[in-house]
Amino acid sequence: MITFDKVSKTFPDGTLAVDNLNFELPTGKITVFVGPSGCGKTTSLRMINRMIEPTGGRIMIDGQDVTQQDAALLRRSIGYVIQHAGLFPHRTVIENVMTVPNLIGTDKKKSRATAMELLLRVGLTESMADKYPVQLSGGQEQRVGVARALAADPPVMLMDEPFSAVDPIVRAGLQTEFLRLQGELGKTIAFVTHDIDEAIKLGDMVAVFKEGGHLAQYASPQELLENPANDFVADFVGRDR
Ligand code: ADP
Repeated sequence: MITFDKVSKTFPDGTLAVDNLNFELPTGKITVFVGPSGCGKTTSLRMINRMIEPTGGRIMIDGQDVTQQDAALLRRSIGYVIQHAGLFPHRTVIENVMTVPNLIGTDKKKSRATAMELLLRVGLTESMADKYPVQLSGGQEQRVGVARALAADPPVMLMDEPFSAVDPIVRAGLQTEFLRLQGELGKTIAFVTHDIDEAIKLGDMVAVFKEGGHLAQYASPQELLENPANDFVADFVGRDR
């Protein structure tokens, strides 16, 4: 379980990006951070793996304050997937997956087999393995990004708009396969999107952010739709209160 306990972030220029967040991301579930742009979703996500440090409050993973942990070690147990997969352009697809820290150093044949298994798992084919990132579609690139994050077998995954750069049909396919994969793996996932439909489709729980880095509501998708806590959430989910 990941706990946000009175978490705030003020950047050095005085911007209050996140204001007193209190909620819990349940273990083995997908929690979606959704809301318009600029309301603190990415900042909140990056505080989980200490890419950004909070200026108030604490984030705990299974009761341990993340700021008390070694940042490099922490990041080994937390996968990170971003909008453009950030693949190494001069490495093939399979090399991109094989060169994550915990596969380096293992027997090359074995790490290649593990990487191939992951590529198949995210819906790619063996024929993709020796291509270079530039030869892939946006959707395929994102799949490689997910495979690479999974290679470390982290219990926690942070995903920041992973499907936003692909067209709607490909995106719908990626979402469905992501849910299938999560059904098998049961990772603890924090998933950022500005798309409420994506949040409703993917989230076990949804944290709705609003301007000023406030949490407007934290609830299951069904609860959000049936019982929006305020006008902001009602507008955002497109329902009357
Ligand atoms: P979102 O992910 O919801 O689009 P962000 O977390 O990226 O929002 O940003 C929240 C607020 O913090 C915005 O007003 C943004 O401009 C500001 N912000 C983000 N990073 C920095 C930074 N390094 N320095 C100053 N302000 C920042």
